[in-house]
Amino acid sequence: MSIFKRNSFDASQPALLAEQLSAGYPGNRHALSDISLNISGGERVAVIGPNGAGKSTLFKAIVGLLQFTHGHISIHGVDCYSSHIYVGYVPQQSEIDWKFPASVFDVVMMGRSRHIGWFRRPRKSDRAIVNDVLDDLSLGDLANLQIGELSGGQRRRVFIARALAQDARVLLLDEPFAGVDQTAEQEIIDTLDTLTNQGITILLSTHHMHNDALHFDKVLILRRTVMAYGPPGEVLTAQNLRAAYGASAPVLHHGDDRLMFSMDHDRDS
Ligand code: ADP
Repeated sequence: MSIFKRNSFDASQPALLAEQLSAGYPGNRHALSDISLNISGGERVAVIGPNGAGKSTLFKAIVGLLQFTHGHISIHGVDCYSSHIYVGYVPQQSEIDWKFPASVFDVVMMGRSRHIGWFRRPRKSDRAIVNDVLDDLSLGDLANLQIGELSGGQRRRVFIARALAQDARVLLLDEPFAGVDQTAEQEIIDTLDTLTNQGITILLSTHHMHNDALHFDKVLILRRTVMAYGPPGEVLTAQNLRAAYGASAPVLHHGDDRLMFSMDHDRDS
């Protein structure tokens, strides 16, 4: 990774600061309302909430794909409309055209586009960075495969690699565990550990958390607004889950230094 000319960023500022954010769509102007959040650099945050709670909308607002109706977001002290280079986004798998004729290498190279400049050719250093990232995430052997040939877990990791090639400081993963088996889930968690070791801040949405909640420093329970935010042991209470999910609230399992909650009937795989 030494060949990286790293994005300069102010590590003393919150990785993500949202102040009284409201955002929505033409037909649904209040998908998010009055969101205030302060996430420190290097933290790993699980964003949970029922379907339609606004998790994807929050990520789209952070990444600048959605105009706010009110409020403000900054990334490491820089207004989010000027800080896209700091933010990597792994969209929901259903939003990606897996038949697109791009190789794993091509997709990861897309992470370099803002560094290269549009309509310019990748430099030798960009190719070296992409190869390094692929090796770091054990994807080197897959570099020439068309992205549609990959397994579900590999697909997530390729898009995480794209964010690493971009040198993102904040990574947003929208439902990365949807539709993958437990082995792939563990591979994704291991990959997140690699990112955390590099000080990258991670927000990961899931509408049901099968993984141990203690993989995360904080949990944000969202239902149009912030219902609760803090360490998993404080936030994941039956009362908070009932308030967010209603009668279909997930069940909490404590024990063996683990904190899980499950909605088994709702499992995607
Ligand atoms: P989640 O990711 O938590 O399932 P979303 O952010 O997708 O929730 O959706 C939040 C709300 O915004 C829902 O009511 C959903 O129907 C609505 N919504 C999402 N995308 C659009 C869109 N493109 N146009 C209009 N409404 C939308």
